[in-house]
Amino acid sequence: MRQPAAWNRREFLAFASLFGWLPFLRPGHVSLAGARFRIVRNGRSKRRYLLIHGDEETARGLLLRHMQAHDGTAILIESHTRNVPIEGGQIDPNRMFSRAGAEISLKALNPDWGPERIVRALDLLDRGRPRLLAALFPPAGGLLVALHNNTDEYSVANEEPLSEAGSLRDREHPHAFFLCTDAGDFKILSDSPYNVVLQQHVQEDDGSLSRLAAARGVRYVNLESRMGNRDRQEDMLAWLEWHLP
Ligand SMILES: [Zn+2]
Repeated sequence: MRQPAAWNRREFLAFASLFGWLPFLRPGHVSLAGARFRIVRNGRSKRRYLLIHGDEETARGLLLRHMQAHDGTAILIESHTRNVPIEGGQIDPNRMFSRAGAEISLKALNPDWGPERIVRALDLLDRGRPRLLAALFPPAGGLLVALHNNTDEYSVANEEPLSEAGSLRDREHPHAFFLCTDAGDFKILSDSPYNVVLQQHVQEDDGSLSRLAAARGVRYVNLESRMGNRDRQEDMLAWLEWHLP
């Protein structure tokens, strides 16, 4: 085994940057299959922010502006479509976080694929997933906030039956809601004037990041608003920043 003292400078820098010891060398991108993410850092904070669906441009614009005034690390998908390329087909990037969930998405979006091709894509995801998670998940006690936009088909009404608890104080605006995985965060968010649901122990694994975060005990909040309703999403993000530890 080689001793650290024997490392040359280039090896040391590569090693150190991998673990984030040298901020100026930390990578500006991370990818998984055809999902390529840009990493935007501002100051030092345990906050992580994510834009995972490339066509949710209201959330993208809000997050980029938010990062100019708040400390944290934002990870933004570079594509401008909802699905991303994989092995010549496509997948929903928010279904990549478990093998079982990815398989369902791959089969639905690539109906002409045979079993070998499915397995090849799933293996690719399994190999690359830890590196993406290392960039996404916050340090212990930190918070990951994922920003989403929705349209007519999806609202808090879809999540309410799957949730362990809910506080729906703004039923007039069902497309605007928080979905969180931590009971402490739920308690605080329940005091807001907004809709919030808690999904800490949901059984069904659909491959989404919220399910993985819940399973790993990571504090995670989905912030949903209707596409185009930037003011509402901005208000909710501001409320979250001010009140959550
Ligand atoms: Zn989304």
